[in-house]
Amino acid sequence: MNLSNEEKEAVIKVMESQMLTLLHGTYVKQFEEDFAQYIGVKHAIGVNTGTAALHIALAALDIGPGDEVIVPPFTFIATASSILHNNAIPIFADIDPKSYTLDPQSVEEKITEKTKAIIPVHLAGISADMEAMNSIADKHDIHIIEDAAQSVGTQCNGKKVGSIGTLGCFSFYPSKNITTGEGGMITTNNDELAEQCRLIRHHGEPSWYVYNRLGYNYRMTEIQGAIGGVQLKKLPEFIKIRNKNAEFLSSSVDQIEGITSPFVPEYCKPAFNYWIGRLNPQKLNLTKELFLERFPKSKILYPKPLYKTKLFQEKIAYPKGCPWSCPFYGKEIDYKSIALPNVELITTEIFALDIHPKMAHEELEEYVRIMRRLAKN
Ligand SMILES: *Cc1c(COP(=O)(O)O)cnc(C)c1O
Repeated sequence: MNLSNEEKEAVIKVMESQMLTLLHGTYVKQFEEDFAQYIGVKHAIGVNTGTAALHIALAALDIGPGDEVIVPPFTFIATASSILHNNAIPIFADIDPKSYTLDPQSVEEKITEKTKAIIPVHLAGISADMEAMNSIADKHDIHIIEDAAQSVGTQCNGKKVGSIGTLGCFSFYPSKNITTGEGGMITTNNDELAEQCRLIRHHGEPSWYVYNRLGYNYRMTEIQGAIGGVQLKKLPEFIKIRNKNAEFLSSSVDQIEGITSPFVPEYCKPAFNYWIGRLNPQKLNLTKELFLERFPKSKILYPKPLYKTKLFQEKIAYPKGCPWSCPFYGKEIDYKSIALPNVELITTEIFALDIHPKMAHEELEEYVRIMRRLAKN
């Protein structure tokens, strides 16, 4: 994607150092320091994926059996599956019909005495309403874990996402704003939580053969760290180009009847990751399926709310019905009976377009031409 000679040279330096693990090298450590400074937090902990970042963040907050965590159903699976990985229960709240991020009112309605955290997702570079999320969290004395996987560099009320909740989680998968191939990062201002995250990342092992809690091997490699360090330096330029590409699509689509461009809330300074369009099937006289078929370069994005997938409909996680059947939970949850109106409509009307920095302007123009043509028929 956006890898060049600089990343190549950094990787060669790691190779020449003969140290490929963060336990013996310096590249991950440097990337963590630079990333923490960029986001504006005290601590950043490098891990092997964004999914691991979420798994660790929840574990660091001691979220487990019997606990509920509120998430949007309009996101990548890892936002919700990381809760199951910790034996806790994902509770879905609806999304806002304009920003497609968690709707504060719906979140408020889902809070119970078992709620331990909320995971707002900053979607495609648009931030969730963090002021509303924080005020709910303060009121109920629960935590916010920001899923900022798709929004490295996005700001909310002048602060970078990942610095606003108790913990922030990032991904460096190739489709994200910066990449290390696979990779992730946890951010926090809390010293104690940072220490727990580091422990959980590495077998709960603070020094050789001392095991202080259950942990994993979720370490980032030095090669990932070296690539990440270079990518981070390029990030401001990447964001500039992505935002310019998104603005071009939005301003062009704003003249097309029946297709809506992404809404940027007042509180948000975006770092667009991809561009989300919304169809009006009545006006276009075209279903989403037909639209996608006639516009093969468009992406389906999230085809249905997460609670409609087999994993949740049939509750297939751990054997014997765990974590839902866990006696610490003591409640019945039936995802089949959940109906959240906004997400159910929006999933039938939404599509996504690539806006990555290496894209030729002609490709964007072609997108617009195809959308114009589809809108005319
Ligand atoms: C990409 C992504 C993740 C997971 O990141 P991986 O690095 O692929 O494990 C989590 N949440 C969201 C919203 C994502 O888009």
